[in-house]
Parts: sequence; structure tokens; C-alpha cells
Amino acid sequence: MASIRRFMALFPDEQSCRDYLFAARWPRGFICTKCGEMRYCLIRTRNVYECANCKTQTSITSNTLMHRTKLPLRYWMVALYWVASGQRCSARKLAQTLRIQQRTADRLLRKVRLAMHKSEGTPMLDFWVREKRSTQQPIVRRAMLMMYRKARSFIRKYYGKRVSNWNRLYYYYEYRFRNNNGHNPIDALSKLILGACTTIYTLNEYGMLRERKSAS
Ligand SMILES: [Zn+2]
Repeated sequence: MASIRRFMALFPDEQSCRDYLFAARWPRGFICTKCGEMRYCLIRTRNVYECANCKTQTSITSNTLMHRTKLPLRYWMVALYWVASGQRCSARKLAQTLRIQQRTADRLLRKVRLAMHKSEGTPMLDFWVREKRSTQQPIVRRAMLMMYRKARSFIRKYYGKRVSNWNRLYYYYEYRFRNNNGHNPIDALSKLILGACTTIYTLNEYGMLRERKSAS
């Protein structure tokens, strides 16, 4: 329970969530998605960052998993912390706790599972992809099969036998994340947040930055 205190100290309000996400998303400072400019001005009324060069406005959540979210950032943090703390988290419980609609909670939890997937970018553990099996060493194949069985029994235990293939993949992400990060909730949380706030442009943004530097 010590970790929930640390969580509450880390994220007492919306501003602290924004600050944390900013540092996670732009570890070397703001970068414009369009032109690679690093100077910006903050429009406080709407919490968007305007590029000083091309005037493109970016919010902290745009192009991330939280794209166009209407939920307070703290709700996201609670959902992320909940799963990071190793507890089972159902959409119904989440909906009751945060007083949001079941449908919103469903969507939120699905995004959280996607964050679990993104934060575990280890191709070593992609045992889910079946066709690769034939090319692997027998010992790797056996280990994968074992992981696969464990994942399957995890899904059966928590989500029942009748799970659609689409959901099964998300539950598998959950299993893998929980399996790898069960020991330290706060570390798991920061890993999850990193997964949640990387964007499809992240590599591109830094690529542009390199180009700009070599040109000048
Ligand atoms: Zn720009």
C-alpha cells in the first residue's frame, strides 16, 4: 500500500499529470510534429502548445493513445496505476470507481491494454505469432508453448472461456505485461505511461531534429 501513497503524491492534480506526461513524451523538450521546431508557447486556457515557427498547435495527448480524450488525465492515471499495481481491474469496477459510463470504461481499459503492449516492445516474447514458431529452435519453441499455455489459462481464469479473438489479443497483452512487471507498481506505472504517450511521430520528430542540426 506504500505505492498508492507514492502514486497520490506523484499525481495530486491535473497539472502534475500534464507535467509528467510532458517529460515522458518530450524528454529532450518540446518538438513540433510538423517542422521539428523546439520553441513553443503554451496557451494556458486550452493547455495546448503552439509551435513558434509554423504555429501548429499540439496538445499533450494528441497522436498518443489518449488522442482526443475528454476524460481528465487523472482518470487515465488511475486506470494505468490500477493495472500497474498488479490488481485485476474490470471495466465495471473502473466505471463504478470513477463514475463514468461502462462504455467509456471499456474503451479506457482497452487503451490501457494497448499501452501494456506498447510498453513491452520485446519481440523476444512475441510468442503469440504462431507462424514464426516453425523457424525457431526447439528449446525456444518449447518455452513459447509454455508461455502460450500460461497466457491461455490466465485468460480463462479471469475472462472466461468465451472470449473473442480480438479481445483475446488484448488480454494476452495484459498477461504479458503483468507477468513482466508484477514486482514494482511505480516502475510499472512509469513504463505504462511511456507506452501511453509515445506517438506515431516520436521517431520522426527526433529524426527531423537530427536533420536540422546537421544542416545548420
Ligand atoms: Zn512547427
